[in-house]
Amino acid sequence: MRKFVYLLVKPYRKRYLIGIMALLFVNFTQSYIPGLIRNTVNGISEGLLDSGGILKEVSWILGLALFMAIGRWAWRIYVMGTSRIIECDLREKLYLHFETLSQNFYNNQKTGDLMAHATNDVGAVRQALGNGVLLTFDAISLIAMSFILMLKTNPSLTIYSLLPLPIMVFVSVFLSRIIGARFRVVQEEFANLTGKVQENISGIRVVKAFGQEKAEIENFRTANKKNFQAQIAMVRIANLMRPLSMLVGAATFIVVIWYGGSLVIEGTLLFGDLMAFTMYLGNMTWPLLNLGWLFNLLNRSKASMLRLWELFSAEVEVKDGCLTNSVLDKISGDIEFRNLSFNYPNSDLVLEDINWKIKKGSKVAIVGKTGSGKTTIAELLLRVYNPNPRELLIDGRDILEYPLKTLRDNISEVPQENFLFSATIAENIAFGKTDAAISEIETASKKADVYDNIMDFPEKFQTRVGERGVTLSGGQKQRVAIARALIKNSPVLILDDSLSAVDTATEDLILNNLRASSEEKTVIIIAHRISTIEDCDDIIVLDEGRIIERGKHQELVALGGFYAELYRMQLLEEQIKQYA
Ligand code: ADP
Repeated sequence: MRKFVYLLVKPYRKRYLIGIMALLFVNFTQSYIPGLIRNTVNGISEGLLDSGGILKEVSWILGLALFMAIGRWAWRIYVMGTSRIIECDLREKLYLHFETLSQNFYNNQKTGDLMAHATNDVGAVRQALGNGVLLTFDAISLIAMSFILMLKTNPSLTIYSLLPLPIMVFVSVFLSRIIGARFRVVQEEFANLTGKVQENISGIRVVKAFGQEKAEIENFRTANKKNFQAQIAMVRIANLMRPLSMLVGAATFIVVIWYGGSLVIEGTLLFGDLMAFTMYLGNMTWPLLNLGWLFNLLNRSKASMLRLWELFSAEVEVKDGCLTNSVLDKISGDIEFRNLSFNYPNSDLVLEDINWKIKKGSKVAIVGKTGSGKTTIAELLLRVYNPNPRELLIDGRDILEYPLKTLRDNISEVPQENFLFSATIAENIAFGKTDAAISEIETASKKADVYDNIMDFPEKFQTRVGERGVTLSGGQKQRVAIARALIKNSPVLILDDSLSAVDTATEDLILNNLRASSEEKTVIIIAHRISTIEDCDDIIVLDEGRIIERGKHQELVALGGFYAELYRMQLLEEQIKQYA
């Protein structure tokens, strides 16, 4: 973790150095001024200073105060400002890391937790690198300088006046431990609360459809209350810190006035010296009062840094292969599954002994019951998950050897669950080819048979979809997703149940367009409707992760197995629809 903090701070070492130098300069001056005041007061009371002398001393003090103001400004800019820059860097690093983490990581995380990391934990690190650094240097330098000057003024007065301080340090350390523990609970409850809100807003349709608003509000109320109680438990202790420290601080001053006053009356201490002494003590008390707060801040930040460090240490499973982009930036589309077996972490085998050769340019299909492993095949081809070595080959090479960019540039997918971003329709279609000309976007939308729908929207291709935009129907969304895959014009195209939300006539139209424009392409269609795949070159039927039938449509119908039965049922359904 230390290395992690060092890497964050390293590029800004110079800025920190300037800021800390400015801080030390200010503290040095602040410790120097009481001496000047002492000389002036002693000079006045002993009649050694005339009005010109007083003016000279006062001008010095004024000049130094001005320098201190400049110094304070500099350390604010150089330390606090830099901590903001590091916060910005850290957010960016975290986001980049989120983008590289594999699907398996996200399958095991709650979005709410990740959001909490990105906001609270990054903020806590900023506080440590801003206020934390400042207060640490401030405390060390001011306490040390004041202590030396106090000892120089009067050693016995120093010892008496500092007697109550160990109590203060003990109280600070003790309370900050409790605060640290309670802060961790606050973080957990906050993550839980944000998670609940995020999940409920995303799933609002299901909540409403099942009439669960009341129950969900109740759940939220419980989470909200727990968060509130955790906050209160923390604040109760945190707020004890200041009054207690001030009490101890006041006790030290009482000792100084009482004992120091008697020394002045005895004549062993000059009045100016007592004044300077109280000022040194004042200089020292403020950072001491802040010690508890500082421990508390550093403790909280440490917890946040640990959580972030764990997040950054999460393994990126799906990585680039050993071949460089320049060697392999194009693939032609020969695919081979060679005795492929696969299981998700903590799951049984999902695919077993898959042997299948897909020739470049062929149109093939996968059918099978839900859960038989069809989507898993598509995900392995896109390397959302890692297959075992040498079990999945593309153009004769192990898929694991390819750079991810090559794979994803050359393989387009229309996933089962279409996700459109809160952007314009044009931006959504051009998502995988951001430099696409508008004519390309139009052509892709025509092939996906969604052009006319788009032209009916008030702002056509510039219509915003998603949050605060128009709502597309399931079929329209699906076709925008098809256009988004087609515009990439990649040699391999995977359609994962991508025509389920369109009617049969639209489906025919899209398939005809696809056939006309993808002669050279390898197309893999995962489908439930046999009409979608009737003229495919090769069809496999999956059941519980195994291939149970394979061949062309006619061959499979003649086989009289699962496929033939599925076909018979669908024909029957069509006939019923016609007569109805
Ligand atoms: P299909 O596309 O044929 O409906 P899938 O490939 O989606 O089937 O799923 C095959 C099997 O793998 C199912 O039993 C499913 O529950 C399981 N599965 C899918 N994704 C995961 C995952 N991330 N972790 C564990 N098991 C999974």
